[in-house]
Amino acid sequence: MKKLSKPEFARLREKTRLALAGRDPSDSYGFVNPPIVRGSTVIYPNTEDFLVRKARYSYGTSGSPTIDALLAAVNTMEGGAGVLACSSGLLACTLPTLAFLRSGDHFLVTDSVYHPMRNFCERMLPRYGVEVTYYDPLIGEGIAELFKPNTRAVWTESPGSQTLEVQDIPAIVTAAHARDIMVMMDNTWATPLFFDAHAFGVDVSVQAGTKYYAGHSDVLIGTVSARTPELYAQLKLTWDALGVIIAAEDAYLTLRGIRTLAVRLKEQQPAGLEMANWLAERPEVARVIHPALPTDPGHALWKRDFTGACSLFSIELEPVSMTAVAAMLDGLALFGMGASWGGYESLVLPFDCKRYRTATKPGFKGPTIRFHIGLEDLEDLKEDLDAGFARLRAAS
Ligand SMILES: *Cc1c(COP(=O)(O)O)cnc(C)c1O
Repeated sequence: MKKLSKPEFARLREKTRLALAGRDPSDSYGFVNPPIVRGSTVIYPNTEDFLVRKARYSYGTSGSPTIDALLAAVNTMEGGAGVLACSSGLLACTLPTLAFLRSGDHFLVTDSVYHPMRNFCERMLPRYGVEVTYYDPLIGEGIAELFKPNTRAVWTESPGSQTLEVQDIPAIVTAAHARDIMVMMDNTWATPLFFDAHAFGVDVSVQAGTKYYAGHSDVLIGTVSARTPELYAQLKLTWDALGVIIAAEDAYLTLRGIRTLAVRLKEQQPAGLEMANWLAERPEVARVIHPALPTDPGHALWKRDFTGACSLFSIELEPVSMTAVAAMLDGLALFGMGASWGGYESLVLPFDCKRYRTATKPGFKGPTIRFHIGLEDLEDLKEDLDAGFARLRAAS
């Protein structure tokens, strides 16, 4: 097999790069995949090398070939200056705040932020002297009105967790960069395959690799990508200082998931859309929240900026009791009820974002439910839900 030079590799199309990134059979006894390298201690050949730490790897906490293989694959999708991995998607969200925010800074956070990240912003950041303001995810260029002299960064997540508001990322980036303010984004919903965060000027792009990257609900992992070498260096400094590291098996499994990311999304995108359309026809459903539906308020922005949709969306039911919702959901055989998503299996959960929103009050009248569509046959999923709706009606 001929070895490609860096420019030759860079010229390849994304799907090809995803099949090749991070592996070199001549480094792994000819086997296709890089081996799982576990370890804490790294042995140096002699005193001189040890004294100057002259080694590709110096100690387990500073990385390993297995982790580097994963980072190479993520970097080829993100297209930034460098990527770091950490032990959960949540840590991938919190790590950049530790890297870039200082005591006295002001941090703007979308009201649609992933809830555990809000928890971090509420419980941890004030202890370090960082002031947090939540803003309406649909604010767009209006974000400029919330800037203070000490605003250091804007946290975005588009579409937002559970309620899936599509943010005008280019408008937010333009306003923020005009004032030297950083933009960070949780891009888990779209993955870099469907939203090119760095190309839109996002400085720090975060991915809960637990979801579609790993893809099989068996790994917790997060990645953080930096747009410029300077941002990467600052992020790396914090990563090094904190002792953030991931297990080799988790790096391996995530890389294995990434090899099939494009085909899984290619299957799950239309599956999610078909289920969303099917649900939109149901009399029990008041509204389907899916940015790829032309009726969705976020559709125009989604169409302008995104190149695809994953299979995670929400619905609002017509007003009905939670007892009736439970009757529907508890009897489902093909939709597990649980947090997380992005695996091969379908999931469902009820949510109530009114409990914690502070900058906006979503006007839902009926109960809200989030669906993740897996790789099952859609006719089976529809039959399962159809029976669920019958239970809902019987219990209302
Ligand atoms: C799940 C999720 C995370 C956190 O990932 P974990 O690996 O579960 O900690 C972060 N952001 C979003 C949008 C998520 O859905």
